[in-house]
Amino acid sequence: MTHKLIKVITSLTLSISLLFGFSSAQAATKEMKVHFINVGQGDAVYIKTAAGEDILIDAGNKDGSDVVAYLKKQKVKDIEVMIATHPDADHLGGLDEVLHAFKVKSVYAPKVSHTTIAYKEFLTAVKREGLKIKTAKSDVSVPLKGVTAKFVAPIKTYAKSDLNNWSAVLHMKYGKKSFLFTGDAEAKSEADMLKSKNSLKADVLKVGHHGAKTSTGSNFLKAVKPTYAVISVGKNGYGHPTSTIIKRLKAYNIKTYRTDKSGHVIFTTNGSKLSVKTVK
Ligand SMILES: [Zn+2]
Repeated sequence: MTHKLIKVITSLTLSISLLFGFSSAQAATKEMKVHFINVGQGDAVYIKTAAGEDILIDAGNKDGSDVVAYLKKQKVKDIEVMIATHPDADHLGGLDEVLHAFKVKSVYAPKVSHTTIAYKEFLTAVKREGLKIKTAKSDVSVPLKGVTAKFVAPIKTYAKSDLNNWSAVLHMKYGKKSFLFTGDAEAKSEADMLKSKNSLKADVLKVGHHGAKTSTGSNFLKAVKPTYAVISVGKNGYGHPTSTIIKRLKAYNIKTYRTDKSGHVIFTTNGSKLSVKTVK
């Protein structure tokens, strides 16, 4: 090819890409992935943003080795944001192992403590890594590139025995698609969120408290208006998920996935399209 011809082709390509706005189209095809990791009875959500940042919300009930292995398989190098929704062991039980295995840049948790070994181990691990817990509460924004991530709960302070309602609830939006991660928030917190000015609308709802009937009220569902719901649940003696919630989700035509039946539930979005797959 002559030098001149190459020049012509280059300028032609440039004009075509300018004409069709290829550069912005390329940016729009970047994907965010949200993994609801199957950790049995408990919660663990791993998010990889389109900008490449890693977020982990809870890490299940066990020693955390399952979550660490899952993250390593996803080629996670470090974690920009770790969130402990509340001090119950089925949520923060594995976080100390994750803190040990990966460099974690910031940790968020609600301002409530617990007396369990799991909670103490979490605090020890945070301290060992030289980190300070940032308070997760309503209206606190999490600084991330290309997405908006904001806590919409807890709004109030609740009784120390009412740990579920202390759950940090994160609303996350990438382009036009949004997610609501509720931890174990129950009716009281849901009512407070409904009274707040924050939008709760989300395409994907992580169902509160493993499908217990004390969460996911009709008014809350009406405000969130999800297309998809995910119940993170395993073998348990609490009767989770309850038939009340399963029926309610069905009545609202919400496509519901359960980690105990489907395994890992993984959403992919480019900000306009949203797809889901399950992996056993
Ligand atoms: Zn729980």
